[in-house]
Amino acid sequence: MPALATSEIIAVIGAGAMGAGIAQVAAQAGHPVRLYDNRDGAARAGIDGVRRQLEKRVARGKMAQDEGEAIVARMTPVDGLADLADSRLVVEAIVENLEVKRQVFAELESLCGADTLLTSNTSSLSITSIAANLERPERMAGMHFFNPAPVMKLVEVISGLATDADVAETLYATAEAWGKVPVHASSTPGFIVNRVARPFYAEGLRLLQEGAAVPATLDALLRQAGGFRMGPFELMDLIGHDVNYAVTRSVFDAYFGDTRFEPSLVQQALVEAGRLGRKSGLGFYDYS
Ligand code: NAD
Repeated sequence: MPALATSEIIAVIGAGAMGAGIAQVAAQAGHPVRLYDNRDGAARAGIDGVRRQLEKRVARGKMAQDEGEAIVARMTPVDGLADLADSRLVVEAIVENLEVKRQVFAELESLCGADTLLTSNTSSLSITSIAANLERPERMAGMHFFNPAPVMKLVEVISGLATDADVAETLYATAEAWGKVPVHASSTPGFIVNRVARPFYAEGLRLLQEGAAVPATLDALLRQAGGFRMGPFELMDLIGHDVNYAVTRSVFDAYFGDTRFEPSLVQQALVEAGRLGRKSGLGFYDYS
């Protein structure tokens, strides 16, 4: 199946850590992009953030000024889901909550045309389950980008039980056209990467709880001796503890309470305290 044409409109819902970056990726590939967030001003702020990133690239001589301006000009903040009705592809990147995502997709289905492809950037929730109440679940799939979306190459294209093979192939080809390295996966809890990554966080948190060493020591060790780009604590701070904790709980529940995936009380306490990592200015590290 061919990739979507760059004239086709891409909608992104959620302008947080992931959504703004995904919108940038699609706009960089040449698509007109609509960005919606239900928090006042968030979509505009997301696009302003992209503008600032691109201006830095221009200042460093890594991008022509008119190219950066053209990318930003292709991104439009919108006020409601109804403004996404003429999109060919929707990528949802809102809160990691099954019921909220289901509601959004049910509303989208009533607004969008029959050929609109519906995708979720969920890290861990079942695509089968998100799609279950849709009238046409065959057009729903996962399109799982990694953080930061404009930098990280991998995209998991996730098929639920009902996903049409042609839909998955179109998304795969589109991700490739966007300069990404896609991989097909089926909708198992945490898919591939978040399944493999769970022990990285969980064992780091267990070491911390057992008093083995402080986060900075553990992170430095994993980077220098283990060869990881980031240690588990700085990576959790980047992801956001609210998101990471929700993903941990979701994978734990999906595997019927398998203790390998048990959430950590340290993580829970950080979420309760509002210490969400970089996005709140404080997590394991202080970003103020
Ligand atoms: P975030 O909290 O940074 O941003 C979520 C945004 O969605 C917020 O701006 C919020 O206002 C908005 N939102 C919430 N409910 C909404 C609704 N009903 N309608 C419209 N907008 C709504 O979260 P994030 O880190 O960007 O994560 C978003 C999704 O991407 C989650 O499903 C998460 O699991 C997944 N994900 C996150 C990462 C990561 O590293 N943070 C990586 C891959 C995938």
